[in-house]
Amino acid sequence: MLSIQKDKSKALIVYVYDEIEREATGEAGHWWLHESLKKLENSFKKEFKLDLIVMKGSAQESLSKLIKKYKINRVVWNRLYSKKSISRDTKIKQDLKEKNIEVETFNAHLLNEPWEVQNNSGLYFKVFTPYWRKAFDVYKAKKYQITSLKSIDPLEHNEKTQWNFLPSKKWYQKFSNYWKPGEEEALKKLKYYINNHIDNYKEGRDRPDLDQTSRLSPHLRFGEISPRMIFNQVIKSKKLDISSLTFLSEIGWREFSYSLLYYSKDLSTMPINEKFSKFPWRKNEKDLNLWKKGKTGIPLIDAAMRQIYDNGWMHNRLRMVVGSFLVKNLLLNWTYGERYFQNTLLDYDEASNAAGWQWIAGCGADASPYFRVFNPVLQSERFDPQAKFILKYLPDLEGLKKPSLIFQPYLSEESLNNLVKNNQYYYPIVDLKDSRNRALEAYQRIKS
Ligand SMILES: Cc1cc2nc3c(=O)[nH]c(=O)nc-3n(C[C@H](O)[C@H](O)[C@H](O)COP(=O)(O)OP(=O)(O)OC[C@H]3O[C@@H](n4cnc5c(N)ncnc54)[C@H](O)[C@@H]3O)c2cc1C
Repeated sequence: MLSIQKDKSKALIVYVYDEIEREATGEAGHWWLHESLKKLENSFKKEFKLDLIVMKGSAQESLSKLIKKYKINRVVWNRLYSKKSISRDTKIKQDLKEKNIEVETFNAHLLNEPWEVQNNSGLYFKVFTPYWRKAFDVYKAKKYQITSLKSIDPLEHNEKTQWNFLPSKKWYQKFSNYWKPGEEEALKKLKYYINNHIDNYKEGRDRPDLDQTSRLSPHLRFGEISPRMIFNQVIKSKKLDISSLTFLSEIGWREFSYSLLYYSKDLSTMPINEKFSKFPWRKNEKDLNLWKKGKTGIPLIDAAMRQIYDNGWMHNRLRMVVGSFLVKNLLLNWTYGERYFQNTLLDYDEASNAAGWQWIAGCGADASPYFRVFNPVLQSERFDPQAKFILKYLPDLEGLKKPSLIFQPYLSEESLNNLVKNNQYYYPIVDLKDSRNRALEAYQRIKS
């Protein structure tokens, strides 16, 4: 999103959708993008009498065309952090400067720029706790000046906006049952969350059955709310206790992920711990597809995979559990999971998704050790004790009655045979214990 200006007071507001933007947004995310831009267009019109011009194609060419046509002398935008966006934006900046056009860029997406948070040796942090301690202080020392769009007049133009980002597959239609894109909703949600749930965040955040996290992630992803707004509102409204600090530290994980994205070679395909490039992953398309479709025969995994397909979102605890199951029990490369989430999550974010998958696989910075294999049955017992979450997505298991059986239908051969016969459930595709041991053996091979 850019503001391109003539004599500072007159501006065009432009969103350019190029190949890099397309790649940074999966199919589910395109639904959000479409709805979010529509909301933005309306609010610009209503509040500031400004149009939102949406263009498709090369960012450089689109800009050059507008600059020439409307005799633009100043361009401003907010910075992005993937390697591809940085390279594109640096080229555009150089080109504009050569043409004597003023350029100014800002940070709207993060609390701190990645290069503002470094350790005493001037290097980036690879461990979260010292990173966040420093990042917290760097951010708190900042002072801001807010400029309002009210001081800007529309520049007359005859551009036609190029709409429609909706994916061809209509599976996105159900997302509107769960989500309302747009800034207004994001601000409402934040206020509600601070007033009603943040005090229980420390205990509640791990419980998919209670659903007590903020669900702000897609709003953050699409810039409808900034991490600064969240941080500042929490600090203003709450005594900083263990719960609110834990909530803020999750915003810290998002920041940490951006630092890793900025400093690593290619976070979504290359393991930070290079030993993992030689990991003996299995190749098995069939198991991968059963995982994606929620047909593994392990109820917590299957319910979670149905949540992502249905809601375009999955609870954080479950992202860890299904991730561990894919890379450890099924021994399939984490990049397959990264790509599937990329396409199906509304909050898909180049930094947090890749960092999350590297964490799960044990190859990232400050990652979960590879030998920590989440046991989906124990996770069900701890975080979905009455099997409420599982039954929401797998109602056919209701007949098993006892949570202990719902967590492991294979414990009752007869009931499972009946469920399978009636196409209501599946035999497990792996034995949890054997596959755990297989994963640990594979890990031994790259350890030394
Ligand atoms: C394998 C894997 C993939 C993930 N992919 C993404 C992704 O593509 N996009 C994404 O936004 N988050 C991702 N996460 C992080 C986390 O699962 C989501 O941010 C969280 O579930 C969003 O729900 P919420 O807004 O209710 O979170 P809350 O618990 O309310 O947290 C508030 C905000 O903090 C940030 N946050 C919370 N946990 C994390 C975390 N572990 N890492 C980074 N930021 C965090 C998010 O911006 C979130 O909206 C991933 C985690 C894992 C393990």
